[in-house]
Parts: sequence; structure tokens; C-alpha cells
Amino acid sequence: MDALVELAGVRKSFGNALALAPTDLQFERGKTTVLIGPSGCGKSTLLRIIVGLVTPDNGTIVFNGNAITPEALQDFRRRVGYVIQEGGLFPHLTARDNVLLLARHLRRAADVRLNELSCLARFDEQLLNRYPAELSGGQRQRVSLMRALALSPELLLLDEPLGALDPLVRASLQRDLKEIFARLRQTTILVTHDLAEAAYLGDTIVLMNNGRIVQRGTLRDLQETPVDRFVTEFINAQRTLTLS
Ligand code: ADP
Ligand code: MG
Repeated sequence: MDALVELAGVRKSFGNALALAPTDLQFERGKTTVLIGPSGCGKSTLLRIIVGLVTPDNGTIVFNGNAITPEALQDFRRRVGYVIQEGGLFPHLTARDNVLLLARHLRRAADVRLNELSCLARFDEQLLNRYPAELSGGQRQRVSLMRALALSPELLLLDEPLGALDPLVRASLQRDLKEIFARLRQTTILVTHDLAEAAYLGDTIVLMNNGRIVQRGTLRDLQETPVDRFVTEFINAQRTLTLS
């Protein structure tokens, strides 16, 4: 596998609680890897470790063949786009200023093509002057996505970006995300707890439980060759209702 990011022996505890058991994991360049599992299984912790917001107790993270040292962290973080469930937009800034915030800080605002980003994220440019409170939930997540993509990150991290949206808005954003990942050949790590979303958006699914990776593969792999009972239980618990 051509891995853009590689975790080796990465472990994290909070006090006595093990949030992430020693983990080896590779994320393939140009592909979408989906982290899925029950609430509290360590998905966000894994993402926060990768983006450098949480320091692991042990282990190394390799990016593009180089281990990320504390000295290299700052530079690395600028090559990563990160979207959280609540979007993380600043309420006192307009959509435009939210998108440009980091770029301005880095004196790279001139690099940002707002019209291209709006088009890509299907965000109506007329709304760029609005504040987050004046946008719908779906529009806010489109702005968060534009902000994360503004500086053409090598790695895009999305932590349940659609979790708070109603089903129709969610479906439309899922379609747009899939198109964006393909068009940009974006290396993406997406966290979700929705198996249908994982199967739709992910090239690979990584199923976690209790701070451990249980199984990695396609939905079909998980369905047809589950490694243990938990895998089957997790899949069955998510089976959608069929109306007759
Ligand atoms: P997920 O995103 O899969 O729902 P998290 O990664 O947020 O799970 O959390 C994994 C475990 O680590 C949970 O038991 C959670 O309570 C714990 N945890 C996460 N962050 C912290 C923190 N900053 N301090 C203490 N415990 C934490
Ligand atoms: Mg989480």
C-alpha cells in the first residue's frame, strides 16, 4: 500500500482509562479511510492524535515517509484540513472570514480561490457575507469544509461532519463529499458511526471497539468474513428497516 500516513504502536490513555490500545494503522494515499465504531471507542482520539491535538503516550506517526517530531508538528498541521461535527466555525466571523482565517494568518489568503471552493462545496457565493447563525446546519458544514480545503491540504480529517444534520441534507452532503474526494483524489480519514455512510464514502472501513481496531476491510469483508461476534452484532444493529 502507498501510505500517506502510518501509525506504529500509537497508544493513548487518559488517567487509568485506555482510550487507544497500541495501534498500527496505514492510511492509503488518495483514498478515503472510514473509522467506525460505537461511541467512546476511540475514533476522535485517533483523529486528534494524528492532527497533533492529543499527544500519544507511545508510538510514532509517519507522514509521507517522515516521522512527525514535535519540531515538525507545526508545519505538518498546516498540511492537514480538519472538520469536526459542530463545524467549529467562529460565530463572530462571516463565512468568508472563517474560510480565510488560517490562510490570512499564514499570509496565504491570496492563494485561496473562494469561487472555486464555493463551487466545489456547492455553497452559494451570495451567502459568504453571512454569519454562521444566519446559515443552515448543512450550509455551515459546507463552510467548514471550504475552510478545511482552503489551502489544499494533503490530508483531510473529518470527524462525524454530517452527524448533526437531518437525513435529506445529510444525503446531499454525502453525495457532494464523495464527488469532492474523487475529484481532488483527496487522502481522507472520515469518522462516522453510520455504516451506510461508511460503505458509501469509504474505500476502506476500519471498525473499532474499546480502543482497538477489530477489523479492516470493505463492508462486504465485514459481512462475509467477520473476525468475531462484535463485527456481526455491530452490522446487525445497523440494519435498516425494510418496509413491506
Ligand atoms: P469516540 O470518538 O469513538 O466516541 P473518543 O475518542 O472521543 O471516542 O473517546 C475515547 C475514550 O477516551 C472515551 O472513553 C472518552 O471518554 C475518553 N476520552 C477522550 N478524550 C478524553 C479526555 N480529554 N480526557 C479524558 N478522557 C477522554
Ligand atoms: Mg468522537
